[in-house]
Amino acid sequence: MRAILTYHSIDPSGSPISIDSASFQRHVEFLSSGAVRVVPLAQILGGGDEDRVAITFDDGLGNFAEEAWPRLKEHGLPATQFVVTGHVGRDNAWQGRRDGRVPHLRLLDWDALGRLAAEGLELGAHSRTHPHLNRLADGALADEIEGSAEDLFRRAGVRPQSFCYPFGSLDERAVTKVAARYVRACSTELAVLSERDSPHRLPRLDAFYFRGAGRLESLGSLAFRVRLGVLKTARGLRASLQKRGGPSRS
Ligand SMILES: [Zn+2]
Repeated sequence: MRAILTYHSIDPSGSPISIDSASFQRHVEFLSSGAVRVVPLAQILGGGDEDRVAITFDDGLGNFAEEAWPRLKEHGLPATQFVVTGHVGRDNAWQGRRDGRVPHLRLLDWDALGRLAAEGLELGAHSRTHPHLNRLADGALADEIEGSAEDLFRRAGVRPQSFCYPFGSLDERAVTKVAARYVRACSTELAVLSERDSPHRLPRLDAFYFRGAGRLESLGSLAFRVRLGVLKTARGLRASLQKRGGPSRS
């Protein structure tokens, strides 16, 4: 089984983008135990049948540098951080709007991102302003997708290979534009990887759902797959209920 894990913030708020420090530590201990092979996102597809896991973080939040990276580095666990390039050094009130369901958090600045990249963190793009890409006109869509790659190159010297769709919102136009610029892209579809997945629509497992003791540790087991099915169904129901509502997370 192969899977990409999604994290955002390591904090005690219990919000939908948060995992507490103790739970994250437990995840790190499991991921570094040898029970699963953790690979860079670039190696999650192709090459043999062995089980693999990749670790991703969205939004470039400041607490990554203090709470997550030191522990990942200590255990040699590779990770990808998806950066909202127009918000670097500011906060997660995307386009000036705060989401009351998630904590208001400081973002890493370019100096910190450069340091982390030099230490082995992969920097991917997560747009410039974190919009719903499927709601943008063509010009704005190109600016978000191509512009964020340009920003990462100009400010951090990185040519990003990986993209992540803000809020998981995508349509064929967005996927086509992303595919022209990036090698791979992650969505927020809650699933393990399958051979049918397009490299530009890779599903992920949001760590929020695996905070409880033993949840992530059961990765790949029958119980894990059953629970994933239940989560997906519940999430699908919620999404259809919220369709007319405000932004979803991620
Ligand atoms: Zn995001």
